[in-house]
Amino acid sequence: MTATAEGQRATTTNGGAKPIFGERRGFWPQFGTYIFILGPFVAVIAAVPFAWGWGLGWVDIGLAAFFYTLTILGVTVGFHRYFTHGAFKAKRGMRIALAIAGSMALQGPILHWVADHRRHHAFSDREGDPHSPWLFGTSPIALMRGFWHAHMGWIFDRKLTNAERFAPDMLADKDMVRVHKQFGMWTAVTLVAPAVLGGLLTWSWWGAVTAFFWAGLVRVGFAHHVTWSTNSVCHMIGERPFKSRDKAANFWPLAILSMGEAWHNLHHADPTSARHGVLRGQIDISARLIWVFEKFGWVYQVRWPTPERLARVTAD
Ligand SMILES: [Zn+2]
Ligand SMILES: [Zn+2]
Repeated sequence: MTATAEGQRATTTNGGAKPIFGERRGFWPQFGTYIFILGPFVAVIAAVPFAWGWGLGWVDIGLAAFFYTLTILGVTVGFHRYFTHGAFKAKRGMRIALAIAGSMALQGPILHWVADHRRHHAFSDREGDPHSPWLFGTSPIALMRGFWHAHMGWIFDRKLTNAERFAPDMLADKDMVRVHKQFGMWTAVTLVAPAVLGGLLTWSWWGAVTAFFWAGLVRVGFAHHVTWSTNSVCHMIGERPFKSRDKAANFWPLAILSMGEAWHNLHHADPTSARHGVLRGQIDISARLIWVFEKFGWVYQVRWPTPERLARVTAD
């Protein structure tokens, strides 16, 4: 077993304990990882031509794209960069709007999301991390199990992260507690709103049904997999140009769909940075939106990356 460079670094910061990382993943587990990630997406896309013209049209596509963008940005800009990591400050109206948009992604109520994600950073890829793919070992079977656990298996754990420990600031904010408790309502809104819009735009009941299916259900499922891929894929595969004490990696194929969250190696190296895609050509749509909000004065004290910050976290 040869320890990787990351393993050696982790060992030194670990006080001489056994290396965190073992052998490289073999060909078949690697292949299986791709299949698991790409398979469901391909299946949904493959269904498109069969449904086109009778059960799917441009109105459904447009609504799905709109609600996908709204809710993913609610998670990336709101739940993640703002509420979890405090990458900027926001005016009250913007704060509530971001909490609602993120809730509409159906990734759990806001207090749970923030507490889970702060725990992920506190223990990343170690015991205590709610969704590390590395908790079961490095054999092919252990990695398949780890991938499943990191991607979605962990969600079924009934033990909730202690919000009093990990999110006391959120608990102290009455508006945030209210949005948290309204999660059921926002669940209904995110599914019913596309149906209503689809019905009105096509002036038909059938239009409401197809919009409910594509822009409601399929859109939520698709967005789930994109977000979960940050927890699974981006902790397994990709480049690691920055110093993070875990296996977080930059996985470029997901950069656009994840709205910048796939630049996950930089994020773990510098968690409060408002921009994750900091290198040349690394498109980060969430950072661009924060920039627009800043220009309007809706957010302020944004923690943009600086050359000094980047120099501190660049891997040697
Ligand atoms: Zn992570
Ligand atoms: Zn994070």
